Amino acid sequence: MKSDRDRRVDMLLDDICYEVRETREFTGCSALDPRVLDAMRRVPRHAFVGDQLQDRAYDNHPLPIGYGQTISQPYIVALMTDLIRPRDDAVVLEVGTGSGYQAAILAELVRQVYSLEIVDELAVAARERLQRLGYENVAVRSGNGRLGWPEHAPYDAIVVTAAPTGIPPALIEQLKPGGALVIPVGERIFGQQLLLVSKDLRGRIEETRILPVAFVPLIGEAEG
Ligand code: SAH
Repeated sequence: MKSDRDRRVDMLLDDICYEVRETREFTGCSALDPRVLDAMRRVPRHAFVGDQLQDRAYDNHPLPIGYGQTISQPYIVALMTDLIRPRDDAVVLEVGTGSGYQAAILAELVRQVYSLEIVDELAVAARERLQRLGYENVAVRSGNGRLGWPEHAPYDAIVVTAAPTGIPPALIEQLKPGGALVIPVGERIFGQQLLLVSKDLRGRIEETRILPVAFVPLIGEAEG
């Protein structure tokens, strides 16, 4: 018999697939990679939210995680993950660890995830949570993600989960030729666009607008 969690995950995945189909004209994506859906099925989202939110852990909504921050909506997590075309040998940088949920989804799919979080307490909690859940291929560091994580660059893909007003140059620099960066960009929470930025093998940059989105702002000084 299916557990309550399995039933809630089935409903969530149905909802995500529905929303992906409904937004296909914006995103150019009418169905998610089955590997991405499998990762969404496996990662226990309830382990990334507090006790008071357990009954909403599998809702297709963002939820508060403290410090004024949120765990992103599952549909957006799935879409961003799909957009970078995660290969199992890829090394990926995430900016904005938050709860660690997006990092866990990536960790299910790629070889290594490096994730940066500016709020110390969130970085510590996410690191402990990911360790407890057995994700050995995620490294979390507290720091300003605008500067990227140069020691492990270049990255096959970069996923940014907080919105700057412009694309931080360090992130473009740390992207491998042939790689993809997915990032919400915009001045105000309701004026943001999710962008897919690709770097071709000759280092040329191309930007594609994917979807209007509402992320928390990327904080911290541009100079570090
Ligand atoms: N990916 C997260 C969603 C986090 S919301 C998850 O799956 O739960 C965005 C996160 O970005 C917040 O935790 C916020 O503290 C963090 N953040 C904001 N500005 C940042 C910066 N300059 N560098 C790193 N993290 C930042």
